[in-house]
Amino acid sequence: MLRIDGTEGEGGGQVLRTALALSIVTSTPIHIEGIRGKRKKPGLQRQHLTCVQAAATVSEAEALGSSLGSLELKFTPRKARAGNYRFSIGSAGSATLVLQTILPALFAADAPSTVQVTGGTHNPMAPPFDFVQQAFAPALLRMGARMELQLLRHGFMPSGGGSIAAKVEPCPRYQPIELMARGEAKPWRARAIVSKLPDDLGARQLDALLDRFERRRLKFDATKLERVEADDAGNALLLELPHGDLCDVLCAFGERGMRPEHLADRIATEAMILAAAGVPVGPHLADQLLLPMALAGSGTFRTVEPTLHCTTNARLIERFLPVAFTFAKDDDKGAYRVTCSPRS
Ligand code: AMP
Repeated sequence: MLRIDGTEGEGGGQVLRTALALSIVTSTPIHIEGIRGKRKKPGLQRQHLTCVQAAATVSEAEALGSSLGSLELKFTPRKARAGNYRFSIGSAGSATLVLQTILPALFAADAPSTVQVTGGTHNPMAPPFDFVQQAFAPALLRMGARMELQLLRHGFMPSGGGSIAAKVEPCPRYQPIELMARGEAKPWRARAIVSKLPDDLGARQLDALLDRFERRRLKFDATKLERVEADDAGNALLLELPHGDLCDVLCAFGERGMRPEHLADRIATEAMILAAAGVPVGPHLADQLLLPMALAGSGTFRTVEPTLHCTTNARLIERFLPVAFTFAKDDDKGAYRVTCSPRS
């Protein structure tokens, strides 16, 4: 069994999810200790437990220690199986992260699969559905891995109740990617999502964002206020920056008492950092692309300064696959180059 220390590096849920995914596709039994050891509430929370259960289901694995709060897991997969799967987190834990955990296994299966995950679809510290659909899926498609995604219902903190669906095609071989420059620039789009809160809140956030971009003479194509049906009150401000066939999706969440200008400032600052660096891959997509890139055997992209999620994920992936990642400053405007090469 490959032993993994869940407290290493970033020490969060991604260590568990990457380890589960690679355990299945490389047929490597794993023993993880100190699961989410650097989080305030360590161990398997509802989202992570569902990740383990989903990973075990799609690979007919034996999973010892898969209970709420568990700090240790022994996971022995058999083979990745295509199927029609449904998983329910039972809280606002991230449905997209559960889907991302089992995607590599479903791409490795020999027939198409469908998956439905119920839980949170828009929550802090996780990819919002829109990011997975517009940023992650097109990048995977560039590597030859095809899926179709649908948002069936929005789910916010604390109870979730949202639902996402995916159709996943088998991908026998990933193509290496080379993402060095942004594709043809397309107009930016901003959306404010509001559930069970006054419309005015979203409208003020969009106005504040417009104001920040007008001052910098940047143009939106569209702003849209989306009133959605969900179990809980929820609010998110999204900015989509399409370029070529790819897209950055920036997202910030409204909290009680937070001024609309504050949310707009956060999104505007993130957009400016990306635009100034002129890179095709944002900080979140960067850490999420490492795994498929390693399965392709090689690849390279330019991004902003790699996060601890990114470097931790790279070191973990290197323990499963014969690849090596390098992170190098690429210019003095904030760009970095991430490269995955075969390790002899
Ligand atoms: P962890 O904190 O270890 O559970 O991992 C969280 C994952 O969610 C990482 O892959 C992050 O890149 C991703 N993530 C967090 N916030 C966002 C966001 N706003 N957009 C896209 N991905 C995100």
